[in-house]
Amino acid sequence: MLPENGRSAADLLAELTRLKAADLPVRGGKVTAYVYDTGRPEVHEVAAKAYMEMLEVNCLDPTAFPSIVALEKDVVGAVAAMLGGGAHTPGIFTSGGTESIILAVKAARDSADAPNPQIVVPVTAHPAFHKAAHYLGVDLVTVPVDTVTYRADPAATAAAITDRTVLVVVSAPSYPQGVIDPVEEIAALCAERGVRCHVDACVGGWLLPWLRGTGTEVPPFDLSVPGVTSISCDLHKYGYAPKGASVVLFSDEKLRRAAYFASADWPGYTIINSTVQSSKGAGPLGGAWATMQAIGAQGYRDLAAGAVAAARRLAEGVKEIPGLRVMGDPAASLVAIASDDPRLDVFVLSDKARAHGWFIQPQLSYPGIPANVHLTLTGVSLAGVDALLDVLATAAAEAVESGPAPVPEGIVELLTDLDLDTVDDKGFADLLASVGAGPSDGQPEMAVVNAIIDALPTETREALLIRFLSALYSG
Ligand SMILES: *Cc1c(COP(=O)(O)O)cnc(C)c1O
Repeated sequence: MLPENGRSAADLLAELTRLKAADLPVRGGKVTAYVYDTGRPEVHEVAAKAYMEMLEVNCLDPTAFPSIVALEKDVVGAVAAMLGGGAHTPGIFTSGGTESIILAVKAARDSADAPNPQIVVPVTAHPAFHKAAHYLGVDLVTVPVDTVTYRADPAATAAAITDRTVLVVVSAPSYPQGVIDPVEEIAALCAERGVRCHVDACVGGWLLPWLRGTGTEVPPFDLSVPGVTSISCDLHKYGYAPKGASVVLFSDEKLRRAAYFASADWPGYTIINSTVQSSKGAGPLGGAWATMQAIGAQGYRDLAAGAVAAARRLAEGVKEIPGLRVMGDPAASLVAIASDDPRLDVFVLSDKARAHGWFIQPQLSYPGIPANVHLTLTGVSLAGVDALLDVLATAAAEAVESGPAPVPEGIVELLTDLDLDTVDDKGFADLLASVGAGPSDGQPEMAVVNAIIDALPTETREALLIRFLSALYSG
């Protein structure tokens, strides 16, 4: 509620601290998703100061605030230099991977002459492509991946391309299993067919280049590969910048212009936008620039090597834990772990690990791919990887002991047949509680929620997730 009279700064900050008490910790490496910690607090502090310095500058008008042009050119130039581009490679600083991807899809759509544009993506491509297709009125065609390596299939991709295809997507690496798609092969067949090819290097773009020469094999994946026409790279992931920082690069100027938007069709100020957002603070740009300058090339080499060493140690250690196995051959520092033992439910394992203070991300099953848990290791992870392995071993044993999460009798049929529009948010919350999936002790039994969602078809899953979000923000 808005107070009648303004409150003191001390009071406000104390309230924020209190509100954050139930949040996952953003530093320390025990949360193996969402957050990227260098383990160097001084870097995050300088980023915060730079963010605040740029806070009130508005990126809406680059002619009014030339500082943002200078900073953006510097950041985009640094990314281009590492991703197969050069001093003149066109790029855009965006708020995140999703926005970079939306702009890449828009550029492909607007620069192609296809009446009913379509994009072709492997099933492992990030949902940001589904979102982009949905927002931009483009059709999306998914192509299955190899069920052993989880990598995109060039032959199946080639077969999916039609006259309507404006963009083909590959990932380096894909998020779910952390493997790199055959970029060279797929980009080559795109070039042959005259179709653009986007490399989603949102998670790997600021990690893979720093691994070259360190003993980790990095296949060519960037703009230097013939046929690649755009690439996305999130600085708020392995760039360790504060959230709101990503870059999308294009192989040519014309393509970048197709990502832009201008409007003079109203009686107000002139609109020239490089991104989806119009008015926006320059904090994320200042924060990203300062983080990159504070860490430097050698710093990124060290952080990347540390994250990969942690992932290797994790993969080795998992072999010793009965019932668990690493999926595919992780290229860098994203590791997915599945269960080989029907008594060991990975969703229960995730809850057990959480009770021991670690957050390990559950991933639902998908046709041909079993349910699993995902770990994103970062610069801070190496120091804690032995503790992580201990927790995984303990949580796995506890999960076997307590057995798989129970899917309540009849719930799958009930939810599949239910017309969700007839249920209000309160009714939905009651429904969740009635199946034991409501909040208990303040923390919902996520294993039960995940087990139920996992048993449902995709469309029902999505409808339920929307209701879950809506219920979360109601009442
Ligand atoms: C994180 C990620 C995205 C989306 O990025 P956001 O910054 O969360 O919008 C896209 N692709 C891949 C491979 C990612 O890992």
